[in-house]
Amino acid sequence: MYDLIIKDGTVIDGTGVPAYHCDIAIADGKIVRIASDITDESKKIIDARGLTVTPGFIDSHSHSDNAMFDYPDMIEKIEQGITTSIGGQCGSTLAPSDKNDDVFKTFGSMVNAIKNVPLGSNIKSFVGHSALRKAVIGYENRKPSESEMNEMKTLLREAMENGAIGLSFGLIYTPSCYADTKELIELVKVVKEYNGIVSAHIRNEGFELIEAVEEFLTVIKETEIKAVFSHHKSMYHPNWGKVKESLRMIKDTVAEGYDIYCDVYPYEASSTSLVATLIAKELRALDSSEIVKMLSDSNMRDKIKEIYISKNGNSLSNLLLAQCKGYPEYEGMRIDEIANLRGQNDFDAAFDIIIGSRAAAKICNFSMSEEDVEYVLKYERSMICTDSSVAKNAKIYHPRLRGSFPRFLGIYVREKKVVAIEEAIRKCTLMPASVYELSGKGKICEGFDADICIFDAERIIDKADYINCSSRCDGLNYVILGGEIVVENAIYNGKKKGKFILHKYNHKGE
Ligand SMILES: [Zn+2]
Repeated sequence: MYDLIIKDGTVIDGTGVPAYHCDIAIADGKIVRIASDITDESKKIIDARGLTVTPGFIDSHSHSDNAMFDYPDMIEKIEQGITTSIGGQCGSTLAPSDKNDDVFKTFGSMVNAIKNVPLGSNIKSFVGHSALRKAVIGYENRKPSESEMNEMKTLLREAMENGAIGLSFGLIYTPSCYADTKELIELVKVVKEYNGIVSAHIRNEGFELIEAVEEFLTVIKETEIKAVFSHHKSMYHPNWGKVKESLRMIKDTVAEGYDIYCDVYPYEASSTSLVATLIAKELRALDSSEIVKMLSDSNMRDKIKEIYISKNGNSLSNLLLAQCKGYPEYEGMRIDEIANLRGQNDFDAAFDIIIGSRAAAKICNFSMSEEDVEYVLKYERSMICTDSSVAKNAKIYHPRLRGSFPRFLGIYVREKKVVAIEEAIRKCTLMPASVYELSGKGKICEGFDADICIFDAERIIDKADYINCSSRCDGLNYVILGGEIVVENAIYNGKKKGKFILHKYNHKGE
């Protein structure tokens, strides 16, 4: 007696081979049989005629770890077919922390606290470089001393021994951005001792994209680490097309024998804070009250503006104010529109918004070209992601949290035919499962975990946009996690079958 049989579906198994028709039998959370006509008894049968059956999607860059304690359901993830998320990118993780907190003191204490909490979706995580730096030298913009470096390494080893995938950098964010290349290499060498993985939000994704790619490639070559370029893109109009060069650099390095990937979300707008977008890191004050104070000084405003214009051009019309506590009436408007309303220039309007929101304003930055997005989606080593934290009751401010995977399959695979569907599914499943060493996941195969999506390939589509960011997708019939149905017609039923997955490290040479 099986727990579940999926009958007559079109199976795309995650490996990239052509789709085929068959039945799938599930018992005790595993795929136990794949055959053309399974007639045995089963507690439940799903009629998948006309539907596509794939492994559950793996969100290769998720930030879901941010809210896993407060918001373990992760509804926005499971309701777009994501059964496993890779978190902790861009340098930022809850642990280790300098705060006097038993749970977040070390990566291990955090893992101990989360590993028995049932989650809506599985999660596995990096440890963040900003978190290491914060815990040891706070937000100070300087090199670590030798003993501070050793302390960071000790925290990093502790994380590797307690289930971290590896180390993530967020080289535009404080304090990760204060590290020089030498520091990155020294820390990555520790990750290499454990055969871990490194990911980087590189130092610049616009005018200095090529230099930033070069820097991370240097780290990779020096350490021979397996590496992932986070949310690969080229920002701002004069830089469009540079992804051809950056991906060529990556391909050339792969051809030399290095193991390198990137992740990408299928949108033309990125999303971050207005502060991180506008204020150069050398001027970025440490906390919100200092930023507010700094922006009341007109000389400082001039300086920030001058640096921004020299790097990014003089218009802020590409920035959409997405979430803003002090000025909810401006949410959904572009900065130039807000400036017009207020009778100000773009920059003064933006600075006033930062002050009014106590530095918390979030923006969507329409900075990429459609052609570049497609080019990166096509790259044979790119994996699909949301790059978004779950919402934790806060307002969603970028549609990628709800729509990345259905949008990729609906717009870029079905409509624009950027990649064939079998290859597309591989980018959503087996590729990230192999990169992040998720054993038993990412493939429709006997003995593998029964994490499965069933959808209508003619109909699946994202419904979330920049105005209605929270809308559910269409065309996703079932999501099965650990052998149980958790989503029906894109609606989550509340069953928590996910857990925090520990990364198994193996020492070099073992
Ligand atoms: Zn990032």
